[in-house]
Amino acid sequence: MTRRLGSGSLVIATHNAGKLKEISSLLEPYGVKCLSAGSLGLSEPAETGTTFIENALIKARAAAEGSGMAALADDSGLAVDALGGRPGVYTADWAERQWFEGEPGRDWYMAMGKVEGMLQQIGRDADRSCAFHCTLAIAWPDGEHAVYEGTAPGSLTWPPRGELGFGYDPVFVPKGREQTFAEIDPAEKHAISHRADAFAKLVAEQFG
Ligand code: IMP
Repeated sequence: MTRRLGSGSLVIATHNAGKLKEISSLLEPYGVKCLSAGSLGLSEPAETGTTFIENALIKARAAAEGSGMAALADDSGLAVDALGGRPGVYTADWAERQWFEGEPGRDWYMAMGKVEGMLQQIGRDADRSCAFHCTLAIAWPDGEHAVYEGTAPGSLTWPPRGELGFGYDPVFVPKGREQTFAEIDPAEKHAISHRADAFAKLVAEQFG
């Protein structure tokens, strides 16, 4: 049987304030008090895994070992069928502006263009199916862990459409819809997203 968190403190293995806020509000109804790894002075481990599960576990385990408390981490990305699942765990890396001088940062338009360029190289009939993935990993300091995987299936469109959301949202059309994630009201996106799917599984098993 999977170990359960119960109420109490949980370290969220992120230095991203937005992610901490989103996860805290999702777990608050279950009496869980979330602390960020950043606020505890924990460093971020290198994400050297080749799967979403490996990377989520690397982050959760590092935070659990560093804090002595249960820790939750997530890893997410876009997998395109015709590209053999790429960019996958490298989704954020494809947006790195490695060759620009000055401000480091991410260029999502460049990343979306790279995916589109690869599909166009395959040809006009390229399969545009894809899915966003989100893996949540909980690690306890004694080494035990639990993993929950969520997906949002869809297809890629071009050119990008919409101003809402982030990352690859402007080219992602969720299955059964015509608008991109960047054209859909955020509350609606949050209800059908890969993160919502993964959290529903976590909540069902941990607090159900
Ligand atoms: P990470 O899990 O924070 O490393 O994020 C991986 C990358 O996947 C993000 O930087 C985004 O580019 C992409 N991604 C994950 N979820 C979404 C989403 O809901 N919309 C658009 N892009 C996403």
